[in-house]
Amino acid sequence: MAYNKPIPAVTAELKPFFDAAKQHKLVVQRCSGCGAYRFPPRAICSTCLSQEAEWVPVSGEGEVFSFNVMHQIYHPGFAPEAPYAVVLIKLKEGAKMISNLTGVAPPDIKIGMPVKAVFETVSDDVTLPKFAPAA
Ligand code: ZN
Repeated sequence: MAYNKPIPAVTAELKPFFDAAKQHKLVVQRCSGCGAYRFPPRAICSTCLSQEAEWVPVSGEGEVFSFNVMHQIYHPGFAPEAPYAVVLIKLKEGAKMISNLTGVAPPDIKIGMPVKAVFETVSDDVTLPKFAPAA
């Protein structure tokens, strides 16, 4: 089935993230000054103000930090799934990431629910990290 939702642009800033995702690996930036993990990438660390950072692999394990259930259809590609949840995942390493949770109906999503990264290939260039309940 064709993927009918908007596909993120692979910008120079996000290329390391999408290159890793194509290989079903999750990476985030880690500050070279204080070691804080962060996502999305930023030029300056909000903890120590260092401008040095590197992309590093993370476990893909985390928990639901917050979520919102979308009932309004803002793009027709999302209509078949509505209502659907947009989740804020707190990775075990500390960075937070907005994504979707697969395999769970919105009423069954709980704050603190353990999750793990899964990957959905949506085009030749883009594979999206999403999350599923950890077994
Ligand atoms: Zn820092």
